Amino acid sequence: MRVLIVEDELRMASLIRRGLVEEGLAVDVARTGEDALWMAPASEYDAIVLDVMLPGISGFETCRRLRTKGIWAPVLMLTARDSVEDRVTGLDMGADDYVVKPFAFAELLARLRALVRRGDPERPSVLEVDDLKLDPATRRVWRGSSEIKLSNKEFAVLETFMRRPDEVLTRLHLLEHAWDFAYDNKSNIVDVYIRHLRRKIDQPFGRASIETVRGAGYRLRTDSGA
Ligand code: CA
Repeated sequence: MRVLIVEDELRMASLIRRGLVEEGLAVDVARTGEDALWMAPASEYDAIVLDVMLPGISGFETCRRLRTKGIWAPVLMLTARDSVEDRVTGLDMGADDYVVKPFAFAELLARLRALVRRGDPERPSVLEVDDLKLDPATRRVWRGSSEIKLSNKEFAVLETFMRRPDEVLTRLHLLEHAWDFAYDNKSNIVDVYIRHLRRKIDQPFGRASIETVRGAGYRLRTDSGA
């Protein structure tokens, strides 16, 4: 297993590096996002540990550009603040998980292993609910014949709904299925994503397919008023 660490602070970088090497992993270190952008395509990394605070382009921007280049190695972001906005930004930019500084090395290692273990999923079939269509393999979504651009996490939330049409899904269910790690159940991150999704898959089409079920959660209706 080969890991790329992107971190400009030498002490932090060498701390993580030493810990991962002790675990038997091969490790390279990039000091800037710009360096990461040429290093990542040059080796087959199993995971990338990416600090948000970097000189030059930020960790968020680095992640976005890595994905644009077709680098799909799991990305674990290191953030300095535990804020919902930071998490949403990181996940929207294509990161898979994050750890808040200061962190216990054991936590970083556990998150990293979980990301790598996921591996490549088999090609799943296209999901259809009403005139919504979602292709998990190509990560494309359509309402009727209109393609809709979704961020990675918006996509994950919609996919969770489309696998259980007409069922009331709790916030916890959505958290567990669209994220691979435990968020505080009181987090409003699910509601943030529901708002984003409604703006993209419903409002432009005059629909109301994602229904709020008071006190219970949300439901994707199979009859959204087409
Ligand atoms: Ca840094």
